[in-house]
Amino acid sequence: TQAYVDAIEAARPLNAFIVETPDKALAMAAESDRRIAAGTARPLEGVPLGIKDLFATEGIHTQACSNVLKGFEPPYESTVTSNLWADGAVMLGKLNMDEFAMGSSNETSAYGPVVNPWRMAGSNAPMTPGGSSGGSAAAVAARLCAGATATDTGGSIRQPAAFTGTVGIKPTYGRCSRWGIVAFASSLDQAGPIARDVRDAAILLKSMASVDAKDATSVDLPVPDYEAAIGQSVKGLRIGIPKEYRVEGMPEEIERLWQQGIAWLRDAGAEIVDISLPHTKYALPAYYIVAPAEASSNLARYDGVRFGLRQGGGDGIVDLYEKSRAAGFGREVKRRILIGTYVLSAGYYDAYYLQAQKVRTLIKRDFETVFAAGVDTILTPATPSAAFGLEAMATASPVEMYLNDVFTVTVNMAGLPGIAVPAGLDQKGLPLGLQLIGRPFDESTLFKVGKVIE
Ligand code: GLN
Repeated sequence: TQAYVDAIEAARPLNAFIVETPDKALAMAAESDRRIAAGTARPLEGVPLGIKDLFATEGIHTQACSNVLKGFEPPYESTVTSNLWADGAVMLGKLNMDEFAMGSSNETSAYGPVVNPWRMAGSNAPMTPGGSSGGSAAAVAARLCAGATATDTGGSIRQPAAFTGTVGIKPTYGRCSRWGIVAFASSLDQAGPIARDVRDAAILLKSMASVDAKDATSVDLPVPDYEAAIGQSVKGLRIGIPKEYRVEGMPEEIERLWQQGIAWLRDAGAEIVDISLPHTKYALPAYYIVAPAEASSNLARYDGVRFGLRQGGGDGIVDLYEKSRAAGFGREVKRRILIGTYVLSAGYYDAYYLQAQKVRTLIKRDFETVFAAGVDTILTPATPSAAFGLEAMATASPVEMYLNDVFTVTVNMAGLPGIAVPAGLDQKGLPLGLQLIGRPFDESTLFKVGKVIE
């Protein structure tokens, strides 16, 4: 723990940790030492972790990297982090992220962007670690923690994992409790780990997952021993390759990586089958209706009265709401609230929101059809490119940024588990990831197949 505390201090220019809790970390580590000496060690005894700032941590600054939550210290702990501490893990601090988890480059954070520890060969240009869990991915890649918590609404675990050469899994919707996680789009949000390798991710997810009376969408199914799946043979498993993921303008090196992944799995004895997920092309536009719609509703609670920042009020309650929200939310969050409010408003609801929900059902059915036909897992690229330069937000349009999520959002729309596994480097020496998509609650197969690719 002391070594990690020192490493975090030395790596402050990466801007991965926004709150450091060294005293708490060392006290927790001392307790771990006592339990180990007493022979009562728990599964994650003494393992130092970083926590995405979206998770409520009791008495510790939690602001979803938004100015609107400035100064908020929750009087409660999220279920996922409670589970980790109960298993003996050690809290190192809070990790940077896009504001309210909205973004793909960590540039919407009120704390400024995180710097990817990876560089292009022969260049010192700072690269993005991706987002929204950019702090989690960068911290794991730079060895500032043994693992990190993260969340994924449309790709925020898998895209940053792919950009940093780490492993990230978004489990099935309902596998982890959402209680105590600041809500973005409640029907899509899931927690999961970012870790150094597939085995660590399996161990962490086992501790994070649980049914929870405080989240009615959490599911009462036993949590398997995911680690046991690692090293098992993939012989005879049917791996689906969806033709719709061969998107226009996809760089040659992403196609090559995908072919390499197919070859590895075939060599390991898996059966490769071509499949079709015909509604894939509608997933991204439908996501960017459903997610902002839910966000606009969830973010209504930041009114300057109950949490964090308070401004105005001299001219009454509306003045208080307006000034607090105007000062507290960043540009991307305001954009999402406007889109969400628009698509939910009378007169537009049927044309946008209802239509997007229907598309969502069709996307889910595409996957159900393929799994019913005997496919065990689906292999795709994790992202359409490697990490890009840090100035992306300044030069790219919002829609260009949204294109980052083209391979990941379908998984959230269908509630399925998806894992990103590092699979190689691009021509510039930056990491690239492949994605595996599984049947509902079959994370074990993702760990098993992921291990072959890693
Ligand atoms: N990049 C996507 C968005 O901005 C996904 C974010 C996420 O998964 N939290 O909405």
